[in-house]
Amino acid sequence: MNLILLGPPGAGKGTQAKRLEERFGLVQVSTGDMLRAEVKAGTEVGRQAKAIMESGALVPDQIIIAMLAARVAQPDAARGFILDGFPRTVPQAEALDGMLKDKGLRLDHVIELRVDDAALVRRISGRFTCARCGEGYHDEFKAPRQVGVCDVCGSAEFSRRADDKAETVGARLAAYHAQTAPLLPYYAAQGKLRAVDGMADMSEVTEELNRILAQPA
Ligand code: ADP
Ligand code: ADP
Ligand code: ZN
Repeated sequence: MNLILLGPPGAGKGTQAKRLEERFGLVQVSTGDMLRAEVKAGTEVGRQAKAIMESGALVPDQIIIAMLAARVAQPDAARGFILDGFPRTVPQAEALDGMLKDKGLRLDHVIELRVDDAALVRRISGRFTCARCGEGYHDEFKAPRQVGVCDVCGSAEFSRRADDKAETVGARLAAYHAQTAPLLPYYAAQGKLRAVDGMADMSEVTEELNRILAQPA
């Protein structure tokens, strides 16, 4: 099964992708996580992407498409993948269609997580992750059970993304509305788009996704 989680920054794509990964044995492919790894490693791609990401704009399509093509060619992707944060533009979606066609693969579901802008600002401003295991948290909505200690691995080190600050959120939401929202009619025209209420509690969203994925495409 191959699926896309579509939705604005902070909608809950990463949170839900990790849960679906476990439940359905799929691999999460997050272009944002891949780019942050490139930045951290100081690669050429990382050098090109860093300032763009910090400004809240999108990284050029050709960089993203090449990175994604290499990722889905890796053996573990054959189990099926959850695309989280890709595609984000119509040219990326067209490139994906071409890649899938070449590999004889299909997209089973495209799911839009719908969350309003005010809620997104709150979600993004409160987001942090465990620096050791990557578990995601939120100041208000998902604080660690014990203050300052990761529920999963016990680490006391957490990190916040450089672009998760109030000044950048507006630019990221604007990029979503201008460049990514056109993917909604694109996939609706393919008959693949399903919308889920992303304003609901995390576990309710997970249940709704499980229901959709249990149905034939
Ligand atoms: P995305 O990958 O779409 O940018 P995340 O999954 O990282 O979004 O979620 C953004 C923040 O909001 C995280 O801190 C996460 O813990 C929190 N969050 C995710 N889903 C919900 C939800 N349904 N209700 C409240 N907070 C949520
Ligand atoms: P979020 O879902 O919270 O917005 P991501 O981690 O998906 O964040 O992306 C962080 C940043 O990385 C984006 O603001 C953008 O600069 C870059 N990025 C990630 N994926 C893509 C993509 N598919 N196309 C262009 N830029 C991307
Ligand atoms: Zn941890």
